Amino acid sequence: MVSHLLNRFYQIIQEAVFPPKCLVCNAFYRIPEHRRCGISANPDPEEAAWPVSVRNQAEISLSVCLCPDCLAELIMVESPLCICCGIPFKSRQGQDHYCGACITAGKKFGIARAPLVYDRIITEVIHCFKYRGKIQLARPLSELLLLAFLIFWDRDGIDVILPVPLHPNRIRMRGFNQAYLLIRNWPNLAARYSCDLSHIRIERDVLIRAVPTAPQSALDRNQRAHNIKNAFDLDRQEVIVGKRILLIDDVYTTGATANECGRLLLKRGAQKVDVLTLARAV
Ligand SMILES: [Zn+2]
Ligand SMILES: [Zn+2]
Repeated sequence: MVSHLLNRFYQIIQEAVFPPKCLVCNAFYRIPEHRRCGISANPDPEEAAWPVSVRNQAEISLSVCLCPDCLAELIMVESPLCICCGIPFKSRQGQDHYCGACITAGKKFGIARAPLVYDRIITEVIHCFKYRGKIQLARPLSELLLLAFLIFWDRDGIDVILPVPLHPNRIRMRGFNQAYLLIRNWPNLAARYSCDLSHIRIERDVLIRAVPTAPQSALDRNQRAHNIKNAFDLDRQEVIVGKRILLIDDVYTTGATANECGRLLLKRGAQKVDVLTLARAV
């Protein structure tokens, strides 16, 4: 308790001297008191309680890097959405159902989900994380992704978590795989909320990128599918045989990467493959 109070005192002094600056609009701001009460600010496991919704968690986790105005602009993925690929429908009425694309061409994964729509604000945050060396964003983004996992999945229904891999050349340039940083700390984060993930294996190097493909961002839908075809391989295939896999990436754009990883994993013996990303293009 004393250390918690000292911690808070230190935080208040630090923020008074160096107020946080919004990553997107560059405004200096104060973190509202009610946003301190969640996973980021509460180190005492006995007091810890998960926020009830993705929006709550996003506002608590991302308040360390976004001002209240930019936070309010974030768009959550909400029902009704596609049962398979998770795209939210324009109409806010009705139940979840399959989208046209998933009916016409079935996916090689079970379900794909994301807490956030890939809009202007989260694009900027992910950009800072991936390309501008703001590795400290891994923590808040990881918290948000973990809550999304616990909302969208039964945690006993997943055996192995795999980050979408980068080619070694890309790792050398960037220094890290952003998808792995988003899940590396999950067991510790979850334990603080008395949530046991010890039955789930997080495997960084089982799914590997065998071919140095061109960046997907410059390509259209068809080119992306073609570009990524046969780009992946497995090391220690026995880890995934008969297992229920959760694949992690930062952004789901056309689904080409998720689909190609799913195709390979199912072909090599995985029981099912689901996909969780931080954001989803609509
Ligand atoms: Zn802002
Ligand atoms: Zn769909």
